[in-house]
Parts: sequence; C-alpha cells; structure tokens
Amino acid sequence: MTERVGFIGLGIMGQGMARNLLKAGFPLTVWNRTSSKMQPLVEAGAKAGSSPADVAAHSDIVITCVSDTPDVEAVILGPDGVIEGAQPGSLVIDCSTISPTATRAMAEKLAERGVKMLDAPISGGSEGAAKGTLSIMVGGAAEDFERALPVFQAMGKQITHVGDNGAGQTVKLMNQILVVGNALAMCEAFLFGQASGVDLNKALEAVKAGAAGSWMLSFRGPQILARDWRPGFTIDLQQKDLRLVLEAADDQGVPVPATSLIFQFYRTLQAQGLGSEGNHALIKALEHLAGFEVSGS
Ligand code: NAP
Repeated sequence: MTERVGFIGLGIMGQGMARNLLKAGFPLTVWNRTSSKMQPLVEAGAKAGSSPADVAAHSDIVITCVSDTPDVEAVILGPDGVIEGAQPGSLVIDCSTISPTATRAMAEKLAERGVKMLDAPISGGSEGAAKGTLSIMVGGAAEDFERALPVFQAMGKQITHVGDNGAGQTVKLMNQILVVGNALAMCEAFLFGQASGVDLNKALEAVKAGAAGSWMLSFRGPQILARDWRPGFTIDLQQKDLRLVLEAADDQGVPVPATSLIFQFYRTLQAQGLGSEGNHALIKALEHLAGFEVSGS
C-alpha cells in the first residue's frame, strides 16, 4: 500500500522535494507557516493541512524541512505540532540541518508515543531538490530506513544509512565543513586569478573538470562571475550550519580552525545586512580584504 506522506516546510528545498513526491505518486498533504507557499503544491495535486498536527493526522510518514533546531522542535513538539496528530507506528523524517543532540532528544520524545523518527539531512542545493538528485544522509533504525526508502528515492539519488539517530546530522555537518572549505578555496582562487589578469570564465572552464572540480565551483562559480547573489542557500542558513559545526566540534574537543575562520567571514557579511544573499557571496568578505572585486567580463 502506498504510504500517505505529509510535508512541512515549503521553502527553497521543500518546494522541489514535495513536488517530486507528488510526481512519484505519493498522496501528499502539505503545510507551511506562510500559507501562500502551499498554493503551487495544491495546484499540482497536494492537499493543504491546517497545522503540523493536522498533516500528521492524515499521513503515515511526515517529512519536516524547516530552518533551525528550535523551528524543528516547534513543528514537531510544539502546540499543534506533529506529535499531537501522529498515530503510533507513523514515521517522522526530518530533512532540516539541525543539532545531532537535539535530534536524539526529539527521537526519544516521539518514541514515547510509539512514533519513529529518522534524521535525513540533505545536500545538493536547490538544484538537487528540484531535480530529485539530492544526497540524503540518514540516521535511525534500519527497519525505518527500509520503510522510508521509496520516499527518499523520490527526492534523492545518493541515499545512505549512516548510523543511529543523530548520525545523519553529524554526517551533514561533515558535509558542511567540506562545502565551506570548497567555497573559500574558490573565492581565493578567483581573487588571485583576477589580480593576475586572466579571464576568469576561461579559468573556470579549465579547472572545473580536473582535480580541483567541485559542486561549489560548477554551480556557484558562474554565479559569482555573473555577480548574481540570488540564494540557492542563504548566508544566514549557512552560518547556522557553521554554528552547529562549531558547537558539535566543541562537544567532541576537535579543532576546526578553517571552519572557525569561515564562520567569522560570514559574520562580517551578516553584519553588513547580506544574510539573505546566497552563500557564494562569501567572496564579498575577501574582496573587502583585497580591495577589489572579481568579474567574469
Ligand atoms: P528556506 O527557503 O529559508 O525555508 C525555510 C522553511 O522553514 C520555510 O518553509 C519556513 O516557513 C519554515 N520555517 C522556518 N522556521 C519555522 C518555524 N518556526 N515554524 C514553521 N516553519 C518554519 O530554507 P531552505 O533553504 O529550504 O532550507 C530548509 C532546511 O534545509 C534548512 O535546515 C537548511 O539548512 C537545509 N538545507 C538547505 C539547502 C539549500 O541549498 N537551500 C541544502 C541542504 C540543506 P516560512 O515560509 O513561513 O518562512
């Protein structure tokens, strides 16, 4: 029997993910805090829920994709939250990037009501969400992972069960260390190339297919050269993830010097009111230090 799916949080990522669930044929109920964002999904065949609890009452599997730890806690455990509508035996899948520790605590609270939970943070940007090619890193019980697999396959390509509850979030934080390190290297390379007088569009073509290639370079490099700061992932959310990395690394007593530096660069951009720009606007912090801007023309 096809499971009924609920989707809470129709932001940049949730819009594409929910649409792909509809395309795969899952009966879908959606909810978003700003209700106007439900309209395109309703037009595509989803039902609109009146609250997270209402979505849970009409779903076997409920997916959440909201911003930060307190936001997931609010939609799952808060008043009118998922926990108030979920039936025993139902499954909650959180695709947001949040604290591994808070994730484990939420899984325990849901388990007290007989509700299962997987943490299933995602990577692949707005493009991956729209195309259904996300990488999904999953923490939780193996049987719940098996149950959720058809749902994951509708939204993603690389789907990996990485361990118990919280492990998905830990792997996502590893992912974010890699993402921002890549971003910083790309920005430094562009500034160096610009100062040295090479054509950055040609330079990008030359290096992206070789050993220096990365998702960040292929997708966000051209945006930097076009000075297009529209977000696939906002600076505010990127900074939230780096805060989660720094907290979790502190818990483990692990030094993360490069991530700490990049956290401070993003802080300068937030201080300038640029938090809603795309995370590739990191280059603006380095341009400020260098005293010039890069350009693709
Ligand atoms: P977004 O476009 O800013 O959307 C955030 C969503 O969360 C919106 O639907 C928002 O509702 C909802 N929300 C936030 N706080 C809420 C609250 N307290 N109660 C109810 N709803 C709340 O963010 P996004 O880019 O889709 O990211 C969503 C999650 O995926 C984040 O954890 C992010 O780190 C992660 N992620 C994003 C990307 C990316 O490239 N964008 C990639 C991987 C992972 P409103 O519409 O009412 O504001």
